[in-house]
Amino acid sequence: MTMRTSSSEAGWQFDNSYARLPSFFYSKLAPNPVEAPTLAVLNEPLAAALGLNPDALRGEAGLAALAGNAAPEGAAMIAQAYAGHQFGHLTMLGDGRALLLGEQIAPDGSRHDIQLKGSGRTPYSRGGDGRAALGPMLREYIISEAMHALGIPTTRSLAVVTTGQPVYREDELPGAVLTRTAASHIRVGTYQYAAGAGGEEQVRLLADYTIDRHFPDVGGGDYVALLREVVRRQASLIARWQLVGFVHGVMNTDNMAVSGETIDYGPCAFLDVYDPATVFSSIDTYGRYAFGKQPQIGAWNLARFAETLLPLLHDDAEQSVRLAEDVIAVFPELYREYWLTGMRAKLGMRGEAPEDEALVVQWLELLETHRADYTYAFAALTNGQPDDSPLFQSDAFTLWRGQWQSRIGSGPDAAEAAAQLMRSSNPAVIPRNHRVEEALDAAVSRGDYSVMERLLEALREPYAYSSGQAEYAAPPAPSSCAYRTYCGT
Ligand code: AMP
Ligand code: MG
Repeated sequence: MTMRTSSSEAGWQFDNSYARLPSFFYSKLAPNPVEAPTLAVLNEPLAAALGLNPDALRGEAGLAALAGNAAPEGAAMIAQAYAGHQFGHLTMLGDGRALLLGEQIAPDGSRHDIQLKGSGRTPYSRGGDGRAALGPMLREYIISEAMHALGIPTTRSLAVVTTGQPVYREDELPGAVLTRTAASHIRVGTYQYAAGAGGEEQVRLLADYTIDRHFPDVGGGDYVALLREVVRRQASLIARWQLVGFVHGVMNTDNMAVSGETIDYGPCAFLDVYDPATVFSSIDTYGRYAFGKQPQIGAWNLARFAETLLPLLHDDAEQSVRLAEDVIAVFPELYREYWLTGMRAKLGMRGEAPEDEALVVQWLELLETHRADYTYAFAALTNGQPDDSPLFQSDAFTLWRGQWQSRIGSGPDAAEAAAQLMRSSNPAVIPRNHRVEEALDAAVSRGDYSVMERLLEALREPYAYSSGQAEYAAPPAPSSCAYRTYCGT
């Protein structure tokens, strides 16, 4: 891509390629200052990787940039336009409370959107206040950083700044601005906006831009290959979610990034008890975005993406539909391959054998029957320490274990190879809901960030199986009420 950057003391090296697209795609914003920007958390390793100077970010000008009070040198300051199917219904959206500063060019040459979330009203705010509360912004920080440490493609969190101003939800809450980074914020919903509010010309511009920015291996103008690659990345991403027990919670088409990163951490949460019907989001009344439905919803969203590309795929409309259908039809099998490969690794099974899928399915059925903790059960198998829980004491488990062990192979070498594979595939630690809540409560109600810092430290190397992590590995005590999450907060 062509680049025009300028530098600053904090190390900002912005290029603004998105802002060079026609203004149809965004609105220019002016700073919307907050009263008293104060740093709550700064991600120093990420800052360093981006070529930013943490000390300068902590200074007055640095904080002014992270709060949206003043544009750092070279920043474009735009809100992006997009649409999206929300729970199946198409709506015009856009960044209602986000501001894209620009694309930071890191010392290694990589390009990262720098976006402020909670930075004030925009032309797309509709009835909203454009602001965000501290708790949900810290929650996004913790979970997105945990996902990154798990090796799952995701937006990341650079900083959270409190604003010194309240936001009004059900209660009065402290306001905050999150700075997040992303490969880009181009969503399936961005294409829906281009197709719906624009037309073929706008979709083509966006597709050419996307290929240039994200898919260097796709030839210019090869929109079928673009579709195929977006489908492949989503199949891989959603398989990764299923493998760690991550529930996104609001897989609307505006929350699906074509880059293949996990984006828009709202009501997301990790499974404790294994149950495919798990829903955490308070507004997902019908379980549209339940854990077990995520692959199907992924395919549905990708079909919406494909529809926007139809005019580009072929001159003949019927041929276009056939081309799109052929690509979308591959998703279930592609997803299954990624998932099965991941599950093989989680169970220490090298190579491929015909019985693998049945072994995986039987194991998951055992977890479901005994309401076992998903992460803990895999970790216990990994450690070779099945405990006295109903799952591991059941006859069905003993039977299954016999089959599993013969699949892995006998002899110390086979056992050691399996154990190694399992240790690198099964996290000991995930951001457990009760731990996240405890950290947020300490930070938000007592201004004590030490609980969150310790949690972040435990999450930094989820596959370490270190003694310091043991307390974070334990499942929560059984609870009579289901964990609930909220969006748009
Ligand atoms: P989300 O549920 O986070 O994907 O957001 C859906 C849409 O609502 C997006 O267009 C957001 O920008 C917008 N939105 C969410 N919260 C607010 C808010 N407090 N003020 C304005 N817009 C918001
Ligand atoms: Mg969203």
